[in-house]
Amino acid sequence: MADYSFDTLQIHAGAEPDPATGARQVPIYQTTAYVFKDADHAARLFNLEEVGYIYSRLTNPTVAALANRIAALEGGAGAVCCSSGHAAQIMALFPLMGPGKNIVASTRLYGGTITQFSQTIKRFGWSATFVDFDDTDAVRAAINDDTRAVFCESISNPGGYITDIPAIAKIADAAGIPLIVDNTLATPYLCQPIALGATLVVHSVTKYLTGNGTVTGGVVVDSGKFDWSASDKFPSLSAPEPAYHGLKFHEALGPMAFTFHSIAIGLRDLGMTMNPQGAHYSLMGIETLSLRMDKHIANAKAVAEWLENDPRIDFVTYAGLESSPWNGRVASVCPKGAGALFTVAVKGGYDACVKLVNNLKLFSHVANLGDARSLIIHSASTTHRQLTEAQQVAAGAAPNVVRLSIGIENAADLIADLDQALTAATA
Ligand SMILES: *Cc1c(COP(=O)(O)O)cnc(C)c1O
Repeated sequence: MADYSFDTLQIHAGAEPDPATGARQVPIYQTTAYVFKDADHAARLFNLEEVGYIYSRLTNPTVAALANRIAALEGGAGAVCCSSGHAAQIMALFPLMGPGKNIVASTRLYGGTITQFSQTIKRFGWSATFVDFDDTDAVRAAINDDTRAVFCESISNPGGYITDIPAIAKIADAAGIPLIVDNTLATPYLCQPIALGATLVVHSVTKYLTGNGTVTGGVVVDSGKFDWSASDKFPSLSAPEPAYHGLKFHEALGPMAFTFHSIAIGLRDLGMTMNPQGAHYSLMGIETLSLRMDKHIANAKAVAEWLENDPRIDFVTYAGLESSPWNGRVASVCPKGAGALFTVAVKGGYDACVKLVNNLKLFSHVANLGDARSLIIHSASTTHRQLTEAQQVAAGAAPNVVRLSIGIENAADLIADLDQALTAATA
C-alpha cells in the first residue's frame, strides 16, 4: 500500500474485502472472542509465535483495520487503537515510564492533557516538566537522566500554534529518548510527525479523523525506528519483560516491538480498548479526511482573515495568517495548511466572550473540536478551568479569548453568524 497517495490510502489502507463474505465495507466484528483451531494454535497465539485474534480486549478485526489505516497514513510501522485520546497518551507513555521517571512536555497543550500530566500521572510515580517549546535551550535543559520522553502537539490546542517538530526531534534524539507528538489538530493529512523525526504519534480519533462528533477514540502510532536497546532506559522493550514470561520485545519483534508490547501488555492489563463499532465509524470518517481538511482550512482562513480586520476583535491566533509569529513554520511542519482551530480575543474581555458564545446561532457551544460543524468554547471557563490563570495564559487560553473550531459549512454563513453575535456581545 505504501506507494499509493494519501487520498487513496485513506480509503483503502488496512482493509480488504472481507475474507469470509466479500463484504466491501469493513464489517463490524461484534465479537468478544475467536475460536482457536486447536490447543496448539491457541498456544502459538498466546506465545506471539503466530499473529491472530484471541480476545477483543487485545485485538479485533474492525479495530485492527483502523489501526493499520492510521499507521499507513502516518508512515508508521504499527499502531494500537485505544478507548480515547487520553487513553492513547497513557498507552504511549506506559512502555517507557516507571516510578521516578519524567517527561518533558510543552506548555501549549490541550487543557485535559496538562491536567493529566501535571496531576494524575503522579499517582503512577511519573512526573512532567512543562517548558515553552519555542525555547529550545529550555527544552534541552529540562531533560535529565530520568526523562523518558518529550511530548508536544504538532498544532497546539487552543491557540493553533505550530511546534518546530524537526528542532525538538533533534533534541530528543541527542538525549536518546523518543519524541511523542499529539497530531490531533493537524491530522496526518496536514502534518507527518514521523517524517519530521518523531518516534510516536498519538491522536484523539474523536476529532478530525472521525470528523463528525460521533466517536470517542484514540490511537498510538509507532515509527518502528527507535532503537529501544541502545541504552538501558527502556527495559520493558529491551530487557526480559516479567509481565510476558521474560520475552525481550525489541529483540523478538524489531520494529513492531512497541506495537506488540502495547497490545500484549498495555491493552491486556490496562484494558483501554477501542470498541469495534467506534472503529467502524472512524474508518468511514477517515475516507473523506483530505476533502474535509481542505474545506476546514479554506473556511478557517476566510473566518480568521475577516475576524482579524474586525474592530471588535483584539487579535486572532490562527497560524495561517501572515501576521502570526508561527506563520513561518507552516511550510516546514504542515505544508497543506495550519488547521482550523484558533483563538480570538474579544474586546470587552471575559463578559464579551460569554455574550458572544450565548448569541451565536450556527456555532455550537461544546467542549469538542474537529467536527464538520463549527464549534466555539470559552476555554478559561471550561476545558482550561482546572488551570491557574498563569497556566491558562501560557496555554493560550486566557480569560479574554474564545476558541473556534471552524467546520465545513459555507464560510459566508459562518461569518454572518459571528458578525451578528459580536454586535450583541460588544453593544
Ligand atoms: C481532545 C484532545 C485530546 C483528548 O482526546 P479524547 O479523545 O477526548 O480523550 C488530546 N489531545 C488533543 C489535542 C485533543 O484535542
